[in-house]
Amino acid sequence: DVKLQEAKDSIRDIVDFPKEGIVFKDITTMLKDEKHLNTLVESLYEQYKDKGITKIVGLESRGFILGTVLAYKLGAGFVPVRKPGKLPAPTYSEKYSLEYGEDEMFIHQDALNSEDVILLHDDLLATGGTAKASINLISKFNVKNVFVNFLVELDFLNGREKLDTDYQVDSLFHF
Ligand code: IMP
Repeated sequence: DVKLQEAKDSIRDIVDFPKEGIVFKDITTMLKDEKHLNTLVESLYEQYKDKGITKIVGLESRGFILGTVLAYKLGAGFVPVRKPGKLPAPTYSEKYSLEYGEDEMFIHQDALNSEDVILLHDDLLATGGTAKASINLISKFNVKNVFVNFLVELDFLNGREKLDTDYQVDSLFHF
């Protein structure tokens, strides 16, 4: 698809960000273009419109951007998975390891229910730590089904293996 290829080509590489040796995929150059934003939303909508999705779970913070748009398009609700100290009501949490140290993701205990079909969305799958912790959070609720979606997957980091899940995992763009 030409439009999707043009959108992919607009993703910018930033060398040595956030630290030396890392090539950061910057999606702001894609999102700022109204044609690309339209292409992304429409192709994600086509992919998930018949799945019976009831809620999008978006990961802080770039997962909020298209997660909310997609929720609106699909007629679904939106639930944020957040970093420490952000969610005001009782939460479940999952720790995960970073290159140096640990981080933790949170979800409200009343966010999901057994009738839900979930689309977990984030901008990018790198090593998979963030997404795995979020899948573990969702598994605390007895939901009907879960789909997992990323705009971008960095195949060479093998994050998909770390997810270690039977859920359907799809990424729009692979590098
Ligand atoms: P992971 O936990 O290593 O898979 O990292 C994924 C998380 O870090 C996602 O929430 C991304 O937003 C962010 N991230 C990691 N690398 C990049 C990148 O190259 N571009 C944009 N976001 C990134």
